[in-house]
Amino acid sequence: MAYEPIWAADPSKLNKVELQKLEKDGLDVIRTIIEKYAHEGYSAITEDDMNRFKWAGVYEQKPKDGHFMMRVRINTGAMTSDQARALAGIARDYGRNLVDVTTRQAIQFHWLTVENLPDIFKRLEAVGLYSYEACGDCPRTIVGNPLAGIDKDELMDTRDLVEEVNSFFLLNRDFSNLPRKYKMSISANIYNTAHAEINDLAYTPATKVIDGETVTGFHVWVGGGLSAKPHLAKKLDVFVRPDEVLKVAVGVTTIFRDFGYREKRHQARLKFLVADWGPEKFLEELKKLTGELETAGEDRIVGWNAAYFDGVHPQKQEGLSYVGLNVPVGRLDADELTELARVSDEYGSGSIRTTMSQNIIVPNIPNEKVAALLQEKVFDRLTPDPKRFMSRTVSCTGNEFCNLAIVETKERARRVAEYLDAHVDLEEEVRIHFIGCPNACGQKHIADIGLQGSLVKTPEGMVDAFDIAVGGILGPNAQLNKALKGRVKGDDVAPVLAQLILFYKENRTGGESFHQF
Ligand code: SF4
Repeated sequence: MAYEPIWAADPSKLNKVELQKLEKDGLDVIRTIIEKYAHEGYSAITEDDMNRFKWAGVYEQKPKDGHFMMRVRINTGAMTSDQARALAGIARDYGRNLVDVTTRQAIQFHWLTVENLPDIFKRLEAVGLYSYEACGDCPRTIVGNPLAGIDKDELMDTRDLVEEVNSFFLLNRDFSNLPRKYKMSISANIYNTAHAEINDLAYTPATKVIDGETVTGFHVWVGGGLSAKPHLAKKLDVFVRPDEVLKVAVGVTTIFRDFGYREKRHQARLKFLVADWGPEKFLEELKKLTGELETAGEDRIVGWNAAYFDGVHPQKQEGLSYVGLNVPVGRLDADELTELARVSDEYGSGSIRTTMSQNIIVPNIPNEKVAALLQEKVFDRLTPDPKRFMSRTVSCTGNEFCNLAIVETKERARRVAEYLDAHVDLEEEVRIHFIGCPNACGQKHIADIGLQGSLVKTPEGMVDAFDIAVGGILGPNAQLNKALKGRVKGDDVAPVLAQLILFYKENRTGGESFHQF
């Protein structure tokens, strides 16, 4: 180990997972999977190593019968058609055709077995993709502007910066043992396309006049995160030039590694340290590692588009458009992904982007080819012109595959959106997010209407139910949504939401939007 794990001096203050990590680094499990478990099978996997599988990007799938899910990092949501074909091939050969787009722009497979994993790692690596550290207590997928490089509304193309930060941290054993998961966001889009405030570390577009010259760079936010105790990130009084982004990321991550809490798992995220220290002390510590930094400049975020891009839109390159598609509740199949790879080659530049709203963008389409592109059959379901509620419904994995889930979410979310599209006539979009437990992978707290799975007692026994919260938004007026009283049975969610939305429609005043209501 290249650094001294200072927290190891007093093991009595460490939780069980911390002791496991000191005994064997999470990244070591990749070799163990390839050399041992892939040959000896599921029954040979020790409990400790099963926990370390996350560092390989692999989780045990419900009901723990030998199947796994895997997340693949798609940093800033940018992939090539070759990468998309490789992903589709893995889903077809090993994952029963399922491909999920996650709320962190990653791709998720299900139904894998441990025997499949070495070949999957190899296939991913062959196209420059990795599942490594997509899960676990380490720097995960770096989210970013899915329009980076083609965006009229970005201050700069952030793809190289994302790549620089990703290359530094990926498989870096100085940072593979953090107190808890660690999420970064880098975007220069003025509509906050990468949800800065819910990340541990986020860079947002900013400018500052330095020596009479306007410099474009970033503001820095730390300590955001959702789950049972959600926190919005705090802005540091600092302006960072593009060539300082990595240095600052290393500094923030070092502080988390060395000062983050390792006693209780549920209080280990960076947000708890930031809440205790406050942004001023945090910045003081950061500057001890980075050296002096400029004070904050002018914020260039003007709003929040919630990472929705459906429809055909002009790019910053004259004559080119991007097409934003709806992927209902983030799920597509291997054939659809293969088709998207083909059309992106035939009509565009062989590039595909994933979004934090679990959707897909096909960029770089010459304007004169757009009409022909839209005739392709794959766009019948993955449409750029989705129905209103289906277009804004997000769901986590839920109890179909997730061991932590209390209720089913994905299929229910799809059915609820269908019901609302059939029964509610509204001329604006309302964002609806479903999560199956408090961990909040479906980012319930930032939705107009967030639904969190639970159970309720009925004369027939316990049944699925949901707590409802309303009014979440990010950007300049960021606020987490607030819980409504009561709990709604799963079967009643669709009609209850229809009533709630109709109540809003009839009682709003002026141009009041859902989060202001
Ligand atoms: Fe599983 Fe809970 Fe995350 Fe949903 S929110 S995927 S149920 S851990």
